[in-house]
Amino acid sequence: MAETKKSNHIILASHTNLKFKETLPVNWGAKTATERGPVVASMTNNKTRNAIGAHSGSYTVYRALSIASGKFSPVHKPDLHNTEAPTPIGPYPQWSDATKIVTHDPWGLDPQIHFKEYFEKGYDIRPTIAMTQAHLQLPEVYEAIKAGRLKPDGKIVKENGDIRVTKVALEPVWYLPGVAERLNVSEGELRKILFQETGGMYPEFITRRDLKVWLPPIGSSTAYIFGDPRDLAKPEVELTCRVHDECNGSDVFGSDICTCRPYLMYGIEDAARTAQRGGVGIIVYYRKEGRALGEVTKFLVYNARKRQEGGDTAATYFKRTECVAGTEDARFQEFMPDALHFFGIKKIHNLHSMSNMKYDSIVKSGIEVVNRISIPAELIPADAQVEIEAKKAAGYFSADGAKDVEGLKKVKGRDIE
Ligand SMILES: [Zn+2]
Repeated sequence: MAETKKSNHIILASHTNLKFKETLPVNWGAKTATERGPVVASMTNNKTRNAIGAHSGSYTVYRALSIASGKFSPVHKPDLHNTEAPTPIGPYPQWSDATKIVTHDPWGLDPQIHFKEYFEKGYDIRPTIAMTQAHLQLPEVYEAIKAGRLKPDGKIVKENGDIRVTKVALEPVWYLPGVAERLNVSEGELRKILFQETGGMYPEFITRRDLKVWLPPIGSSTAYIFGDPRDLAKPEVELTCRVHDECNGSDVFGSDICTCRPYLMYGIEDAARTAQRGGVGIIVYYRKEGRALGEVTKFLVYNARKRQEGGDTAATYFKRTECVAGTEDARFQEFMPDALHFFGIKKIHNLHSMSNMKYDSIVKSGIEVVNRISIPAELIPADAQVEIEAKKAAGYFSADGAKDVEGLKKVKGRDIE
C-alpha cells in the first residue's frame, strides 16, 4: 500500500464557508452528462465534494474502520480501467427527466466515460452503478427443467441448467428536492426530519442548502436481467418483471413463514422463459428487509403473532406489525420505479407482484402494466398462508379474490414450538 496520508485537520460540515471554485454544480435532470455535471462525494479532495454523505451506502462505516486500522489508504483513487459495463446502456429519456429518477444517479454507470474531461482534470468521481455478467445455479430452476416447465436452449438456459444473466448494482444517490416532492413534503421539512432522525449525522442538511444530493447510508438495489438489457427500453419487446423486497430469512435460508423465495424463484423462472421466446426479463432486488423496518423488528413481530390469543391468523397479520413497529410498512414504494426508469422501461407486459402499493407506484410513474401475475397457489408454504391471505384481504392483487373477516380468522399459522 502506498504510504499516503491525509491531513489530520478536521473540517466541520457545519461551516458555511465550504464553497470552492473547484466545486462543480449538479443540474439534476439536465439533457447530457456534461450539462448535468458529476456527483462528487469522494473524500480525497474535500474542495470538490458537491454531495452530502459518502459512497457505498452502509459499507462506508467498514471503509472507515479499514482506514482506522491502517489497512486502507484514505487517499486511494480507484483504477477504473476495464471496469466498464459489458453492454453499454442508455442514455434514455428518463435520465434527463428530473421527476422520473430521484434516488439513483443514471450517469453513475461508467462515469469515467461520461465525465472523461473531469477525470483528466483529476476529479475523483466514483461509479454508483456497476454492471457485470453471471450464471445462476438455482435448485428451483433445475426442478423446473425436470418438470418440463423450462427447457435448456443453450443461450439463456444452458444445457446444465444454469441461467445466463446480466446483473446491475445500483447504489442510492438521492436528489433531495425530488425526494421531497415524491413524499409531498417541502424540501426544508424533509431536511429537518432527516437531520433529527439520524441523530444529527449530516449537519449539511441544515447548513448547506446549496447541496441538493445525498448519498444515504442504506442498502443498494440489484437488478438481474435475462436477455439483452437494451431490450428493456423497447416497449414492443415482451417484458417480465419482478420487483422484490429483501427477505433474508426466506430468500437465503428458506424460512417458510412467507412467500418471498418461492415468488422470487417463480419470477426468475418466468423471466428466463420470457427471454427464451424473444422477450426480456428483469428482477430488481431492493434491500428493504422486513418492510424496511429491519430484521429485529420482523422477528419480534413473528413471536407476537404466534403468541397472541387465538394464534397466528390472517385476520390480525398487519395489526401485530403495527403494534411493534409503529407502522405496518416503511418501504415507500414511491421510489421503487426509479431503478426501472434507469433501464428505460416504459411498458411491463407481465408484472410479478401482488402488491397494490408496488403496482400503483409503477403505474403512477408512467410505466404501463399489462398483466399482473400472482404466485401460483402450489408454491405457497403452509405457514405462509397467513401472510398471503392477509395481504389479499388488504388489497393485494390475486386472480382468485380475497377471504372475508370470518375466513381470515380461520387461516392459521404454526404456534411457537
Ligand atoms: Zn419473506
